[in-house]
Amino acid sequence: DISHGRILYLQDVHVSFDGFKAINNLSLDIAPGELRCIIGPNGAGKTTMMDIITGKTRPDSGSVFFGSTIDLLRYKEAEIAQMGIGRKFQKPTVFEQLSVFENLELALKTDKGVKASMFFRLDSGEGDRLAEVLQTIHLGDHVDRMAGNLSHGQKQWLEIGMLLMQDPKLLLLDEPVAGMTDEETARTAELFLSLKGKHSLMVVEHDMSFIKTISEKVTVLHEGSVLAEGTLEQVQSDERVIEVYLGR
Ligand code: ADP
Repeated sequence: DISHGRILYLQDVHVSFDGFKAINNLSLDIAPGELRCIIGPNGAGKTTMMDIITGKTRPDSGSVFFGSTIDLLRYKEAEIAQMGIGRKFQKPTVFEQLSVFENLELALKTDKGVKASMFFRLDSGEGDRLAEVLQTIHLGDHVDRMAGNLSHGQKQWLEIGMLLMQDPKLLLLDEPVAGMTDEETARTAELFLSLKGKHSLMVVEHDMSFIKTISEKVTVLHEGSVLAEGTLEQVQSDERVIEVYLGR
């Protein structure tokens, strides 16, 4: 069902909070394997959009489809996560007292729900996936380190790794490079480029140099709808975008 050219599809979505239109006629498409950057000033509706996709917020009207057949508005937040939509909030939320390995293992246990117990063992497929994820998130040399002792960037990668343990089809990431060093930011760009193709990613980010490095299609949100879409160069030279960012 992801073969029809889109993994995510929002059409004419509206959400009001006490009469205030946070999302106003929003339409957006994400292709399978795409890495899409979302930018927009504070209050543009970026968080609300992610809340809608993950089922945390119900739109007043409009359609939200996962693949071409799954109507996300018919499902609850937990069911949507189970379908393979992973979300990462801005702050890292890893288990500080556990090792890198245990954090990744736990991400699988969560998936297994009631099967989770102290007798839990990784099967060989899961073990392979864990090893692969460790390499992907650049933590192969830190397997036994306590998560609390990792750098901020490493914690962020670990949390992305925890999402990857569930093999998500779509990952939603909120300001993933905020607070990272330049080197961590560069490695995160590498990480995202390696994930693209296998997963679809929607990345909300303010760091323009990071967006420039990953050089993917950018969507500019403003007042709850799409103001511009294209390469970073295209949207940055768009008069309406300049006006929104520089103020009238
Ligand atoms: P962004 O993430 O782009 O900064 P948000 O999606 O957080 O924007 O917010 C969009 C607008 O909707 C803002 O003006 C915000 O104040 C408002 N808003 C968001 N959530 C709520 C809510 N639960 N109740 C009332 N207003 C909200």
